[in-house]
Amino acid sequence: MGVRVGSGQGAVLIDLDQHPVLRSLNMEQEDWRWEDVFAADGQSRQAALGLIERIGDEEADRRAAEAIRLHDGYHPKHNPSGVDLDACPVCGREAFSADGQDDLGMDQGPGRCLVCGYERSPGLSDYLAAMAYYEVRWADD
Ligand SMILES: [Zn+2]
Repeated sequence: MGVRVGSGQGAVLIDLDQHPVLRSLNMEQEDWRWEDVFAADGQSRQAALGLIERIGDEEADRRAAEAIRLHDGYHPKHNPSGVDLDACPVCGREAFSADGQDDLGMDQGPGRCLVCGYERSPGLSDYLAAMAYYEVRWADD
């Protein structure tokens, strides 16, 4: 199956079944890697929740408004590989600033929330992208 990667005119259709991210998910010897990735993600979530509690709703809303200005989103000419702000999985605000698209084009790119500081690592990005990819494949079959 092919998946569209990127957006706009630079989008390409590639066969992802042999992508290293998907292959690594299928190999048991890679289990240790995911454990480390999930542990780091748990720590990042805890830290982000702690920060949200300290700064309060008012400051969080102010930061969310500021995020729109700070985020370097998609632009056909100036930032063709950029992506738009996304909802943060921890604080829920539209302030998750991904560095770009993930390798599978599933909108799970690594980055950081500009409100709570939650960080999605490149490893977790790979994992979430692969899960989203399988969901799409499964829906297709
Ligand atoms: Zn957040």
